[in-house]
Parts: sequence; C-alpha cells; structure tokens
Amino acid sequence: MVVGLTGGIGSGKTTVAGFFKEKDVPVYIADDAGKRLLETSAEIREKVIALIGEEAYTGKSPNRKHIASVVFKESEKLEALNKIIHPAVAKDFENWQHKQNSAYVIYEAAILFEAGGYKKCDLNILVSANKEEKLKRLQARDQSTIEEIEARMNKQWSDERKRKLADFEIENHDLSLTRTRVDELHDIILKRGKN
Ligand code: ATP
Repeated sequence: MVVGLTGGIGSGKTTVAGFFKEKDVPVYIADDAGKRLLETSAEIREKVIALIGEEAYTGKSPNRKHIASVVFKESEKLEALNKIIHPAVAKDFENWQHKQNSAYVIYEAAILFEAGGYKKCDLNILVSANKEEKLKRLQARDQSTIEEIEARMNKQWSDERKRKLADFEIENHDLSLTRTRVDELHDIILKRGKN
C-alpha cells in the first residue's frame, strides 16, 4: 500500500514523515529523489540543459538557484521541467518500493495533488498548519523574507483545495499532538491494509 503525504511549505510534512519513519514505515521523499536524479542522471542533465541552457549546470552539479529562478518566471518551463523529472522519480520510486517489505510505505511530495501523483496512492494525507505558523517556521528555518515565502506559497494550491482530495488530515500545531495523530493514523492504515 502507498500512502501519499503532502502539505504546503512549512506545514511540517517532513517532520510528520519522520514520525512515520520512527514507526519503521519506509519513507520516500520525492523532492529529494528529484534533486538526486538531477545530479546523477545523464539523461536528465541533457534534457535540462536543452530546456534551461548550459548555465543549468556548473561542472557536474546542477545550479539549482538558476534553474529555480528560470522556472519561477516562466511557467511553461516549469511544466516542461516537471515532465522531465516526474517520470524519472516515478520509476525510481517503483524500484525503491519493490525493495521494501512493510504493510505500507509513505510517498512524500510537496506537489502531490498539484502534479496528480495522489492518484497513484491508495490513501492521501494532508499536513496542515495556519499561515502564521508556517511563516514563523520558515523564517526561522530558511532565513527567508515574508515576501519570498508568500511568493512560494502562492504557487501552491490552498489547503481548502487539497483537503477535498485528502483522505486524512494532520493538523500540525503542537508536536506531541501531531505524534499522537500519526500513531492513530498508523493503526487506521494497517487496518485498511488488512481489508
Ligand atoms: P518544506 O516544504 O518547506 O520543506 P515541510 O512542510 O517539509 O516544509 P518541515 O521541514 O517539516 O516542513 O517543517 C518546517 C520547519 O518547522 C522545520 O524547521 C521544523 O522543525 C519546524 N516544525 C515543524 N512542525 C512544527 C511544529 N508543530 N511546531 C514547531 N515547529 C515545527
């Protein structure tokens, strides 16, 4: 069984994924896989250079800042980049999943709903927090300005829109309550897997 996990930036999805991991649930982080493949796959490198230009890489390393600034301004390029990365991540996930031996795995992706990946998952979980909490956490974690964070937030779907597609929600305010909610969902998911 595959359980999709998502949430807006700063909602705490990676923190929640960590709680599942502590329960020995295998966790695949799609954004990390995308970054890794950008670095290691010659096929992806070739396609990205064709799309963004030679400046997309500095030597062997992807110049993520440059790539991000280009696709942030040009939405068709973002779409094209996603069409390069997403199928490669999907294949990588499949290979990874075959090696796991557990009742279910977590597939964490920032744009699970936006990119349609949720359709391949058996259940989907939305991690949510209010805007003030998210801003505070991201300012502390990334030293970003409010304007930068808001610009990134505005690119994502609202929680209201995501909620309609989610099977479960984890409201991540107090961390100990979040952990309890993860325990509860873990039991629910295991029971569903048996049916
Ligand atoms: P992004 O999409 O930007 O990577 P995310 O949704 O994965 O964000 P996390 O990285 O898990 O979010 O959390 C963002 C920051 O907020 C981290 O520094 C984390 O330690 C902190 N954080 C997460 N949940 C809570 C919470 N309930 N209370 C306080 N701080 C929290």
